[in-house]
Amino acid sequence: MKNLVILGSTGSIGVNALKIVEERPDRFNVIGLAAKSNMDRLIGQIEKFRPEIVSMADPAKARELKGLVKTKVVSGVEGTIECASHPDADMALSAMVGAAGLAPTLAAVKAGKDVALANKETLVTAGELVMREARAAKVKIIPVDSEHSAIFQALRGEKLRNVRTLILTASSGPFIHMPAEQMRKVTVEQALNHPNWSMGKKITIDSATMMNKGLEVIEARWLFNIQPEKIKVVVHPQSVIHSMVEFCDSSVIAQMGLPDMRAPIAFALNYPSRLSIDLPSLDLPGIGSLTFAEPDHDKFPALSTAYEALATGGSAPAVLNAANEAAVEAFLDRKIAFTTICEVVDRTLQACDVTPVRSLADALRADKWARKKSRELIGAIGKRERPDRGLGVSV
Ligand code: MG
Repeated sequence: MKNLVILGSTGSIGVNALKIVEERPDRFNVIGLAAKSNMDRLIGQIEKFRPEIVSMADPAKARELKGLVKTKVVSGVEGTIECASHPDADMALSAMVGAAGLAPTLAAVKAGKDVALANKETLVTAGELVMREARAAKVKIIPVDSEHSAIFQALRGEKLRNVRTLILTASSGPFIHMPAEQMRKVTVEQALNHPNWSMGKKITIDSATMMNKGLEVIEARWLFNIQPEKIKVVVHPQSVIHSMVEFCDSSVIAQMGLPDMRAPIAFALNYPSRLSIDLPSLDLPGIGSLTFAEPDHDKFPALSTAYEALATGGSAPAVLNAANEAAVEAFLDRKIAFTTICEVVDRTLQACDVTPVRSLADALRADKWARKKSRELIGAIGKRERPDRGLGVSV
């Protein structure tokens, strides 16, 4: 029996993880649940899974929740941290959205908990620091991100020195065939319509800009301790191969699967053993063919921007991530155009003074600066762009 804490329990990954817990109560017990603000869903989860502690990040909603349930309720970042480091927990599933996941994930690591990591922003913002702390605390960080889970599985029993390349696959999102000049007019609804995966809003927009793949390159760099030049991205629109590892003898090991996050979540939660869960088999004849292509860096500049931030090092990836979070939020609020997301990220990076990230405080400082700077840029750009009847923006 493994005692779990689920950070981000009401989000897409959290909900899927709890489906696995429900299916396999012989394997998992829920100790703690942490949510941002979805009260109704959290109450349903409390009734079903009977955790010992719950955290509601929104303090006003936490006060309200205290009157409605008998479970211990905590709030704010401190509350999420208390949940993440609960003495009875064996593993924390880190599935919050954005850099907000960093402090609780780091707290879980320092408290000696293994981490099933879905929150890639933790490693983008402070990857070197988090992996160093994980080694010091002798805890495992097991990826949930489907690409990294695929690579993790392909690397089992292999030596890192025998790796020639990590090959991350990218669906390239909904705009793979859209002409570049039309990208500016992309609407929120179009961008949220991912062809293969059902995910939260933030990551779906990141997939549409391909910033998600850029963040995943940075995540892979730290998770697998591999140099950036050994990480490649290949476009694979079918999302059947989740990623691959090329070895020194030119052999390539690929991991395939359904586009269903329950598979990598189950793998991470039950690591090192595989878990039997109720998912259908991959219908290879039904899929028919798999195709591959180079990414279009002109149409999706976010990918090159992420590689550049990784090469710059220090606080640059934290700045990239925070600017992207602010810009995605502004796009979802219809304040800026789709293509402006990358412009905001680029301009924030150009304006930043790169500093070392040696501590959580260093990472949070860079994150805070970048959010402020990017919001200023969004404010200025927003005046230039005006909503066009909710169908995108015109200049
Ligand atoms: Mg992914």
